[in-house]
Amino acid sequence: MSGIYIHIPFCKQACHYCDFHFSTSMNKKEEMVLALAKEIQMRKSEFKNDTIRTIYFGGGTPSVLTSDEINFLIDAVYENYEVADNPEITLEANPDDLSSERILELSKSKINRLSIGIQSFFEDDLKMMNRAHDSAEAQNCLEEATKYFDNISLDLIYGVPGMSNEKWKQNIKKALSFGIPHISSYALTVEPKTAMNKMIQTGKMEAPKDEVAQEHFAILVETLEMNGFIHYELSNFGKENYFSKNNSAYWLGKKYMGIGPSAHSYDGVSRSWNIANNPLYLKAIQVGKLPNEIEILSEADRYNEYIMTGLRTIWGVSLDRIQAEFGQMYLDYLMKQAQKFLNDELVFIENNILKPTKKGKFLTDGIASDLFLVNLE
Ligand code: SF4
Repeated sequence: MSGIYIHIPFCKQACHYCDFHFSTSMNKKEEMVLALAKEIQMRKSEFKNDTIRTIYFGGGTPSVLTSDEINFLIDAVYENYEVADNPEITLEANPDDLSSERILELSKSKINRLSIGIQSFFEDDLKMMNRAHDSAEAQNCLEEATKYFDNISLDLIYGVPGMSNEKWKQNIKKALSFGIPHISSYALTVEPKTAMNKMIQTGKMEAPKDEVAQEHFAILVETLEMNGFIHYELSNFGKENYFSKNNSAYWLGKKYMGIGPSAHSYDGVSRSWNIANNPLYLKAIQVGKLPNEIEILSEADRYNEYIMTGLRTIWGVSLDRIQAEFGQMYLDYLMKQAQKFLNDELVFIENNILKPTKKGKFLTDGIASDLFLVNLE
């Protein structure tokens, strides 16, 4: 099973917290679409023995593309690869791009899953984050989208400074009122080169607090589980049969190809990433070169990745797999490092699978990094 990720590196405006790769100038949008199609075609030999089961438009803001541009890129995948019947084809979209007409248009395309960047239903949060949409647009687009798509995910951000537990509960309640089957929810984090970091440094904004994020996380998990969602990855909740196939494949270590500036790829042995610069990406693709860097993953890298993704997901870390794939030395090291977390009941072992406990879930990333193997090769 393989997936193709297509990065659309444009946004209408920069959200204050975001450090993804995008440009707010749309000048090169048409040129970029042609270059993306060319990269799709250039790399077909990489997947000549694979069947594509997921196509994912991420960004940036893929919904700034016209439906014709999106269809053109999907056609490029079908022309150059073997695509499974009924692949999952996801479009990340922002509410300000999802008018009723646009949703209807998209419903007639091969897109069968929408991932909508709601973030909050409150006007003051949206303004603080510098989102391009308002609360009415967030609600209207969900009302419309649910008429045409059954597979919809929405993103919500928690741990926002000044957001009370009550306000967070209202956000979740509002999200649930649309009957969507998938929610991705992330704590607000402050990345170094963002406007938000500057605002905090200059005292214009309060920094997010870990304790608040932890409380919001507990509310999120409890409320969504009570409403029939399965907490299948640290930040992802889905009803049965609605887990993201694209993201689950990443977490289960399947191959994927990332098309476009800044996109990452993984072929089971090495990881590569395209240059995060639109003009340089365009220049290279136009002369038939792939502007990427490649890193062959060491055994320790593969072990570390498995620990991280295993602990973050419902599938956990299989101790049998650690032994079979990496050997006794890795298993001994893992058990030695995990002992203090077992004692503190932050992780547990069931059927020879290591998983975080309810109490340990919020601390997963920190626990995983303590289980990593560093510099042993
Ligand atoms: S729309 Fe998404 S990718 Fe673009 S700036 Fe906002 S969060 Fe970042």
